[in-house]
Amino acid sequence: MIRARRARIVATLGPASYGADKVLALARIGVDVFRLNFSHGSHEDHAAACECVRAAEVVLERPLAVLADLQGPKLRLGKFKDGSISIAPGQKIRLDLDPTPGDSRRVHLPHKELFAAMKPGVLLLVDDGRVRLRVETTGDGFADVIVVEGDKLSDRKGIALPGAVIPMAAMTDKDREDLAFALRIRVDWVALSFVQGPADMAELRKLVDGRAACLAKIEKPAALQNLDAILDLCDGVMIARGDLGVELEPEEVPVAQKTILRAARQRGIPVIVATQMLESMTSSPTPTRAEASDVANAVYEGADALMLSAETAAGAFPMEAAGIMNRIIERVERDDRWPELMYAEHDWDDDDADALVAAARRAADAGKTACFVSFTTTGATARRLARERPLQPVVVLTPHHSVARRLCLVWGLEPRVGIEPNGLEEMTAAAVELAVRLGAAGPMERILILAGTPFGAPGSANLLRLAHAPPA
Ligand code: PEP
Repeated sequence: MIRARRARIVATLGPASYGADKVLALARIGVDVFRLNFSHGSHEDHAAACECVRAAEVVLERPLAVLADLQGPKLRLGKFKDGSISIAPGQKIRLDLDPTPGDSRRVHLPHKELFAAMKPGVLLLVDDGRVRLRVETTGDGFADVIVVEGDKLSDRKGIALPGAVIPMAAMTDKDREDLAFALRIRVDWVALSFVQGPADMAELRKLVDGRAACLAKIEKPAALQNLDAILDLCDGVMIARGDLGVELEPEEVPVAQKTILRAARQRGIPVIVATQMLESMTSSPTPTRAEASDVANAVYEGADALMLSAETAAGAFPMEAAGIMNRIIERVERDDRWPELMYAEHDWDDDDADALVAAARRAADAGKTACFVSFTTTGATARRLARERPLQPVVVLTPHHSVARRLCLVWGLEPRVGIEPNGLEEMTAAAVELAVRLGAAGPMERILILAGTPFGAPGSANLLRLAHAPPA
């Protein structure tokens, strides 16, 4: 049966949610996309998790997507002799290129590109900003820094230079190996972390070569500056608020969220709002009301998908977190103000296909329409319709499993795999049969069919047809 909920849920799999039963339970609760986080877990873990998702698809008779999230070139400090050191403001430490484990006087910083960007006075953020270091002097392959804030440094903690563009490759050797593996297990989406500019996405696209859809994680201020050029090369985008929040001041993150949401919607590519959405539910069965508001706000803003990270990967209440997210989304989508807000964001120029899709939305609102059925070969027609945020359910019929799965990330689409119709009568019959079978249209109800013809040839929507479900 079709689900009423429009905003999608992405859940990260990990020790708290591994196993066929748990994956199936999450999918039943409403998870549409399962994220494999390649910063954690082994290839065996990810392959097993992917198989569990494919098994859940069979049980639920609907597609589910798998998203591989590549770690990307996260900058990290090296290791310490004893795993960690205590520090105090005013203390001086040297960062250098010597791989020997560190102590209270020095530690390895295994990124020579970083030394070039360090000038006296520059601030370094370590461990998600818990530790702040200021560069005092620099030399060939080292920098002497002073602790401004923080009490501990431990092995392999992340390090960032706020605002700096670091001249480094988009993908590490680990990312390349992980990507090859992810494509072998046939994931649907690949996300690249720490994208700085369009060249990073171009490199990913080249390697992926159409075998998965490509998504940029926006978590660097440089990516915000290059947003348009990056989005031009993306099939989707993630607002990765965790790392983004390390380099941006807190008050800038909600503004960045709005900016990215709008830019993605204009292009008709799906956008995921990620990180800390229900963070307290890693250890509590109920969320804070501020978290509930954050989830609701993302839905009111028209996000395609909302993501759970540690909540489902490592938390004590993975099912509860997915359940609460589902409930909050459903509640917002029942609010009378929600449809107006969805429509208010229409601020792009229509081409011919967009104009037809916009007309379809108006036609659906003008007459009492039960649902849309959209035929799509590449997914483009369905995404155009989703961008309009129609109030009626959108069933999508595509001959390709890969397209159906990729579309699971897109607002409001209910993709199903079916044969390519041969002509208009067959198209109409298939649309009506599917809409009725999924419960999207009752007896005699109106169904709007949207397609691009000729069928099978990727192209733009050029056909809108009105049909009716048969009498009871
Ligand atoms: C983030 O930083 O918000 C994020 C989603 O990335 P990761 O979970 O990989 O750190």
